[in-house]
Amino acid sequence: MTRRPMSPVFDGAVVAVGSVLGIFALAHELIFFDVADPKYFLAVPLIMLMGWFPMLLGRAGGGIEIGLEACVLIFLAVVTTPVQAEAVWFLGCLGCQLLADKRTPTKLFNIGIGAMAGGIGIFCIQAARSSTPSTPRELFAAGLGAATYFAVDFSVSAVSLSLEEDLSISAGLRPTGALGALVAFLGIASLGYLAALVVRDLPPWSGILLAVPISTILVASRAQSRGSEHARRLKILLDTAVRVQTVSDRDAVMEALTIGASDLLRDERVRLRTEPPSGTEIGVAVHGCGEEMWVVGPALNRARSTAGDDRQGLTALVAVAEDAFARLRLSEDMAHLAWHDPLTGLPNRSLFMDRVEHAMEMQVRRGGQLAVLFCDLDGFKRVNDLFGHAAGDELLYEVGARIKSTVRTTDTVARLGGDEFAVLLEEVQHPDDVGASCERILEALRRRIEVAGEAVSVTTTIGVALSKPGDSADALLSQADLAMYHAKGQGKDRYETYRLSFGDERLQRIELVETLRRAIETRHLEVFYQPVVNLQTEAILGVEALVRWRRDGVLVPPDLFIPTAEESGLIVGLGALVLDIVAEHAPRLRAAAGHPLSIGVNISPPQLHTPAFEQQVHRAQEAMGDTQLVLELTERDFVSNDEETVASMTALASSGVNFAIDDFGVGFSAIGYLQRLPVSILKVDRSFLAHIEDDPKACSLVRSMVVMGEALGLDVVIEGVEREGQLQHVIDHAGGAIAQGFFFGRPLPIDEAIEALAASPPVEIGAARRVVPTGPLASA
Ligand code: C2E
Ligand code: CA
Ligand code: CA
Repeated sequence: MTRRPMSPVFDGAVVAVGSVLGIFALAHELIFFDVADPKYFLAVPLIMLMGWFPMLLGRAGGGIEIGLEACVLIFLAVVTTPVQAEAVWFLGCLGCQLLADKRTPTKLFNIGIGAMAGGIGIFCIQAARSSTPSTPRELFAAGLGAATYFAVDFSVSAVSLSLEEDLSISAGLRPTGALGALVAFLGIASLGYLAALVVRDLPPWSGILLAVPISTILVASRAQSRGSEHARRLKILLDTAVRVQTVSDRDAVMEALTIGASDLLRDERVRLRTEPPSGTEIGVAVHGCGEEMWVVGPALNRARSTAGDDRQGLTALVAVAEDAFARLRLSEDMAHLAWHDPLTGLPNRSLFMDRVEHAMEMQVRRGGQLAVLFCDLDGFKRVNDLFGHAAGDELLYEVGARIKSTVRTTDTVARLGGDEFAVLLEEVQHPDDVGASCERILEALRRRIEVAGEAVSVTTTIGVALSKPGDSADALLSQADLAMYHAKGQGKDRYETYRLSFGDERLQRIELVETLRRAIETRHLEVFYQPVVNLQTEAILGVEALVRWRRDGVLVPPDLFIPTAEESGLIVGLGALVLDIVAEHAPRLRAAAGHPLSIGVNISPPQLHTPAFEQQVHRAQEAMGDTQLVLELTERDFVSNDEETVASMTALASSGVNFAIDDFGVGFSAIGYLQRLPVSILKVDRSFLAHIEDDPKACSLVRSMVVMGEALGLDVVIEGVEREGQLQHVIDHAGGAIAQGFFFGRPLPIDEAIEALAASPPVEIGAARRVVPTGPLASA
């Protein structure tokens, strides 16, 4: 049996006893060489040969190998003197160990135990046999010797191992399959006795006959023990494979791998760790479990014949585990996809709702509050239209990152879809903290964002909902959503916290949409007209059509319903109706003015995208005769022009429609579009006029817009002139020829507008310094 001595005293004693016995016998034979029979030394190579075919016995802490060369020992003990038998046996053990691939202490121990067990076996045979050869008693003595040899070899090995591994000795002495091994061993040993009988009673060459059964048994025993070892390994491999394929986390795979490897090496000390194996260990690298790991077990006391298989088995086990890691990674990736937004990598709506629910459960137990923030970007669509979807994606990614940078790592930032983000703030101590978080998010997004080489600005509007006992996650998110809507209504780039009344507002909004829809269907909208005048002479050059909704007898201004109409899509029908009414009124207005005039009609971008729009405009133009139709779009709408819009605007312009940029100066200031689009009028936003008298900056802004517009060959209309002082200031400092404002006239119902036109001072040819080049203003 081959094991490595570690418990030095015990192992040293074994080596000492064995060596003394062996060396004594050898020395005796060498000194009294004439007494010895030299032919028996031929058994040495036979012992060495058989030593190569050990039987493998399972045992905790590694396998034990049993050498079948003991049959040579029995043979020697029967046919020659005990001392010579021991000397030859000792030499055989020595040769066996010299050729073995083991460490020196192991070899020494194996030589010691071989010589010792051999000596005791020989002594037993000698003591038990009678002087008459070939009797049953001699057979019994041979059997007893073999059994003793086996018992000594096995128990001394087991004790040595148990001492070395700090296991209980009694456990070490209880190996699996020891009885079977003993029977096999006795069978082999009996061949030794048979050989003795043959050599003693038959001609010596007949000994060759024994080579056949002996070699057959050797090969069969080796095949059998290897076969069962392979079966055992295969079973471990399969068990481990099944286990790792059914678990759902890495730790469980690692545990299964460790258990499998321990079973495989029959060693409890197998570990999974990050350091590679040392010189006294056997190990295989494990990839795919995060950092690189090694499955490592002790190598020094591995049975010689199984060491190679051990490594191979470990490699197979590791491959099985790596496969499981790959499977887990795949399912993790899939889970990630299912729970995350692929663009920003942030949690998606499902995961967000899950987190909110979880946080609410925790909150029930721990107390305290949590907040849900619903963030909707302002002006995202424009960026998308202007710079393309790739730029839009880039922007969303950056927005996600910025929001995330403003909250704690324990808080959740999610993308709900489109340009909507949500934030879950857990453990809110005070509602003011939520306000501070909102401010941080608003601030972070006010900084311009670089996309597609341009610095663009978007802002966000935030709705906040604070949890109350009994709320559901869904309710909380809709409350935040409602609050966000409310905040948008108050103006963008701000936050609002949900209040109960917001729900009513939502209901009111739905109701508003319905009544507006009915008003459009039944043509219950009116159009008012506001004069556009020559700044110097105050002669009316044209009018701007402004829609009004008479609801329950009250005139509702467009600011209150146009946004709703735009959001609900009603704007398309509304716009068509206004165009219709204007076309109907135009001849009367023209007649009252007594000269060609222009009528401005406000349109919203969705109208430009409807296929019927061009037709509608052409119909209106026909009805208007020599009255110039001006379509007004705000500066914001111009920025978001796509190919389609540009094409339809160009087509309309070529059929004689003029385009005006409304509210110029407050939207995006990327004014490259002025060159690309068929624009002929620029309307300076009225906000600049509000402070023109006392704010030099506002004044110079108006002047530069006038200069720029004129340089581009555009008519510049200054909006919002309310007071004489403003008018004078515009004339003195800002320049400009055309104006609009309450000072000249408020928007008026059609009949009053007709009166105003009739009373207007005549338009002097050439009095307006600058006029609409292609329109009727040009001839005014
Ligand atoms: P807008 O195109 O800028 O129209 C001018 C607005 O400024 C009108 O408000 C007008 O009453 C107001 N205004 C004119 N002069 C002065 C002034 O001196 N001081 C002040 N404070 N305000 C003045 P209104 O009629 O309430 O229209 C508001 C906005 O509604 C319009 O702004 C326009 O964008 C939109 N709108 C009006 N009618 C329509 C329409 O038929 N279709 C679409 N899509 N939008 C419309
Ligand atoms: Ca307008
Ligand atoms: Ca305007």
